[in-house]
Amino acid sequence: HGVTGILAVQGAFAEHAAVLDRLGAPWKLLRAAEDFDETIDRVILPGGESTTQGKLLRSTGLFEKIDAHIKAGKPVLGTCAGMILLARKLDNDPNVYFGALDAVVRRNAYGRQLGSFAATADFGRPGDPDYIARFPLVFIRGPYVVSVGGDAVAKTEVDGHAVALRQGNIIATAFHPELTEDTRIHELFLSL
Ligand code: GLN
Repeated sequence: HGVTGILAVQGAFAEHAAVLDRLGAPWKLLRAAEDFDETIDRVILPGGESTTQGKLLRSTGLFEKIDAHIKAGKPVLGTCAGMILLARKLDNDPNVYFGALDAVVRRNAYGRQLGSFAATADFGRPGDPDYIARFPLVFIRGPYVVSVGGDAVAKTEVDGHAVALRQGNIIATAFHPELTEDTRIHELFLSL
């Protein structure tokens, strides 16, 4: 397939590029609307600070490009702030960005004390075509999912809260698969 466009206005975009390099998959950083050319067939929305990313998406004109990509049903991987940008609603922030993922998401859901931590969990269940067993999760002031609706499916739970969702060609994680050695979430994304 084509090239993965990695939103690169702010945040942990370089880490995603490094994972794609390990997998031999081509990528291009998206810093300006012109960067979103016809070779791009999938998009990564990285971790970072969602309010800042939202403002920069608007000022660069990338918002419209990525919004059209998502509305066309093409593959998107949103990690951490990326999940926030994808959500239909945030329960502690009035902003809505792409609004494509049918879920209510809480920013900085783990508070200050437990803001950053590691865990291990599954993505989906044995027998699911997209099942990933026992992978490491790294959280950095991440969100969690408060409620899921429509076609969105909770794929991973930690302490009773969904932290990974799949909705068609959208994969959203509250954690950072790009900060571990385990490339299976990216491989799943590249298979979409
Ligand atoms: N706390 C950030 C936000 O609310 C997300 C954290 C992250 O992406 N690591 O935008």
